[in-house]
Amino acid sequence: MMGRRGQLYVLSAPSGTGKSTLIDRTVHEMPNIWHSVSATTRKPRDYEKEGVHYFFMDRQSFQNKIKNNQFLEWAEVHNEYYGTPCEGVDQHLALSEDVIMDLDVQGALQVKRRRPDTKLIFIMPPSIEILRERLMSRRSESEERILKRLSVAEEEISHKGLYDHVVVNDVLEDAFQELVAIINENRKSSGEASP
Ligand code: ADP
Ligand code: 5GP
Repeated sequence: MMGRRGQLYVLSAPSGTGKSTLIDRTVHEMPNIWHSVSATTRKPRDYEKEGVHYFFMDRQSFQNKIKNNQFLEWAEVHNEYYGTPCEGVDQHLALSEDVIMDLDVQGALQVKRRRPDTKLIFIMPPSIEILRERLMSRRSESEERILKRLSVAEEEISHKGLYDHVVVNDVLEDAFQELVAIINENRKSSGEASP
C-alpha cells in the first residue's frame, strides 16, 4: 500500500435513493475506505449522530468556516448549508486510504473541477414512484419537504451524464456489488496489491 495515494469518490443521488445505505455498507465491508463526514446547518434526524452522519452547526459557525477556507466545497441545498471539511479528506488520502463522499450534483462538479482525478458515481432510483415510497418509509420529513425533494430529484437526474459511473439502486445487493466492483477495478489499475 505504501506510495499509493488514496482515490477520491463522490456519490450523488436524489435524496432517498439509498446513497447512505450503500455508503454505510461500503465502509463496513471494504477495507481501507473512509467516509468523509460533511458539515450541515440542517437539523439532525432522530437516528443521526454528531460526527457520524454530519457535523451539525448553526449558520454563523458554517459561514465562519467558509471565510476561513476550511471547506473543499460547500453548497446551499434545500435552504440549508452543506460542506466538506478539507482536513479529514487529505489526511486519509495521504494514508493511502480511499475516501468516499456524499455530495449533491453541484458539490460533485466543484470537486471534479478542483481535483480532476476524482471518480464521480451517480446512484439512480429505479423510478420516481419508488423514490417517493423510500422517502415516505424513512418517516423523517413532512409531506411538503418530500414533495420538494422529488421536484429537485428530476433536475439532479438530468446531470447523470457528467458522472464516470451510473448505478441503479433497485435490488440493494446488486447495487452494492456494482459499487464494490468499481472500487476494486480502480485499485487494480492503480497498482494496489490485493489484501
Ligand atoms: P439517501 O441517503 O439516498 O437519502 P437512504 O440510504 O436514507 O437514502 O435510503 C432511503 C430509504 O430507502 C431507507 O429507508 C432505506 O432503507 C431504503 N432503501 C435503500 N436502498 C433500498 C433498496 N435497494 N430497496 C429498497 N429500499 C431501499
Ligand atoms: P440530506 O439532507 O438528505 O442528508 O442531504 C441533502 C443533500 O445534500 C443530498 O443531495 C446530499 O448529497 C447533499 N450533501 C450532503 N453533504 C454535502 C456536502 O458536504 N456538500 C454538498 N455540496 N452537498 C452535500
